[in-house]
Amino acid sequence: MMKSSEIRKSFLEFFKERGHTILPSASLVPQSPNLLFTNAGMNPFVPFFLGKQKCPYVPPRIADSQKCLRAGGKHNDLEEVGYDGYHHTFFEMLGNWSFNDYFKEEAIYWSWELLTERWGFPKERIYATVYKPAPGEPAEFDEESYRIWFQLFQEARLNPLEHIHFGTKKDNFWMMGETGPCGPCSEIHVDLTVEGNSEGKLINKNSPLCIEIWNLVFIQFNANEDGSLSLLPSRHVDTGMGLERVCAIIQGTSSFQQFHTPISDYDTDLFIPLIQKLQDISKTTYTGTFPSSSKEISNSQLQKDIAFRVIVDHLRAITFAIADGILPSNLGRGHVLRRLLRRATRFGQVLGVNPPFIFEMVDPLVKIMGHHYPELIDKQNLVEEVISAEEELFARTLAHGLALFEEIKQKMIAEKRKEVLGKEAFVLYDTYGFPVDLTQLLAKEQGFSVDTKDFEKLMEEQRQRSIVAHEEDIVSLTRTSEFVGYEELEAEAEVV
Ligand code: ATP
Ligand code: MG
Ligand code: MG
Ligand code: MG
Repeated sequence: MMKSSEIRKSFLEFFKERGHTILPSASLVPQSPNLLFTNAGMNPFVPFFLGKQKCPYVPPRIADSQKCLRAGGKHNDLEEVGYDGYHHTFFEMLGNWSFNDYFKEEAIYWSWELLTERWGFPKERIYATVYKPAPGEPAEFDEESYRIWFQLFQEARLNPLEHIHFGTKKDNFWMMGETGPCGPCSEIHVDLTVEGNSEGKLINKNSPLCIEIWNLVFIQFNANEDGSLSLLPSRHVDTGMGLERVCAIIQGTSSFQQFHTPISDYDTDLFIPLIQKLQDISKTTYTGTFPSSSKEISNSQLQKDIAFRVIVDHLRAITFAIADGILPSNLGRGHVLRRLLRRATRFGQVLGVNPPFIFEMVDPLVKIMGHHYPELIDKQNLVEEVISAEEELFARTLAHGLALFEEIKQKMIAEKRKEVLGKEAFVLYDTYGFPVDLTQLLAKEQGFSVDTKDFEKLMEEQRQRSIVAHEEDIVSLTRTSEFVGYEELEAEAEVV
C-alpha cells in the first residue's frame, strides 16, 4: 500500500516526467494583501497568470504540493471539519500548472492517466463536471472541455452521457477570492459507493460516497474590484487535488470492491499517529463514526469522534501556521490561529482532557511530515512552546468561562430565550477570552444562536475606546520624552 509520502512523490514525478519544474510549497502567509491565508496551490503564481511576471521555467510548467488553509475569507471550511471526513482547515493541495503552454486537452488526459494508469483507480468510478452557466452567470458553456471528456470516456468504453455532469458557477467556476485570476473548471469525482453504481447521481451533493478529488481550472479571466471580469492576455491551466482525499481512497481501498464506507481522510497515515497520540492522552477511543443524520449528533461516542477529528485537524493548522511565522493574537491571521487553538481546547473538554495537551501532538506530526516540510523540524521547539503557552493562558479562564456560559444557558431557558445577547458574548470574549465563534459553537449545541451584530457593535466600541486610550498614551509619553515608538504601543494595543 502506498504511504502518503509516496503518493505525494508519485504525483510530483508524474508531472516532472511531463516537463514540469517541481517547486517546494510556498508559505501559508500569502504575498497577496487581499488574502488571509494561502487557500489554493495557485496563489503564489498570481503574477504569472496576470502577465505581470513571466514564469521563469522552460517549458513554463510547474508542479508542487502546496500548504493550504481554509479557515477564513472566501474559502472557509471550518464548519465542516470533524463532521465530515474530507474537509480540513489545513490540507495539502497537489497541483500542476501551465502558463500559456499546454491547455485543456493535456490537462484532462494527464489527470486521467495518473488516476487510472499510475494509481489504478477503476475508470467506471470516475466522473467529470463541466461548466454550464445559469442565466446571468459569467462566461460561456465550456464546450471545449465537454468535447474532450466526451471523447475520453468514449475511448474508455464508458457512456459519456453518464460520466459527464454539468455545474453552474457555484461548483464549476473557480475563484481564488472576490478578486484575482479565475475561470471555468472541470471537477473530477470518484464514486465510492460499495456497488459503484451511483451513476453520478451523487456528484456535487457533498456526499462522502462520491467525493471531489481534483479540480482542473482553466484560468482565462481576472475578477476586478468592481465585480466585472476581464479577459487575461493568455490562457493557463491550474489544477488542485487534495492529498488527504487521495490518500483516503488509495489507502482505504485494498480493492474497490472491498472498502469500508465512508472512507475518511482520518484513516490514513497522515492522521492515524495523531489520533493514536490523542487516544493515549485522553484515555478514550476513537471509533470513526460520522453523523449520518442530525438526530444522531447527541450520541456521546459520535461527539467524541467529532472532537478527535477537530482536534487533530486544528493541530495541523496551528503547527504549520506557527512554523510559517504566525503567532496567536487578537488580530488578523494571529486571531484565526488563536480561535483554532481555543476551539481545539474546547473540543478537548468533550474527551475529558484539560489544557495543555495539544502541544504534545506536535512531535508525532513532525515525524509524519517533517521530511517533506523541513520548517517543521527547524521550528518544532518554538511551535511547542507557543502552543503550550497559549494553552496555559486559556486554561486560566476556560473553566470560569464555561461556568458563565452554563449560567447564561440556565437564564435563557428560564426566559425562554433562544439568542445569546451581544453583551453576554462580549463578556465571554473580553473577560474569559472566548472568541465569538467558540460561543457560537457552544450556543449551537444547545440549539441557540448568538446576536453577533450586537457583539460586533460592542467590539467596535471597545476598539474606539482603546484608540483614544492609545492616543492619550502617546501624548503623555511624548511629553515625558520617553516615547517608545509606535510599534511597541501598537503591539500592546493589539492585545486588547
Ligand atoms: P469541495 O467542493 O469538496 O469543498 P472545493 O471545490 O471547494 O472542494 P477546490 O477549491 O476545487 O475545492 O480545491 C481543489 C481540491 O482541493 C479539491 O478537489 C479537493 O480535493 C481539495 N480540497 C478542497 N478543500 C479542501 C479541504 N477543506 N480539505 C481537504 N481538501 C480540500
Ligand atoms: Mg469547498
Ligand atoms: Mg467543489
Ligand atoms: Mg472544486
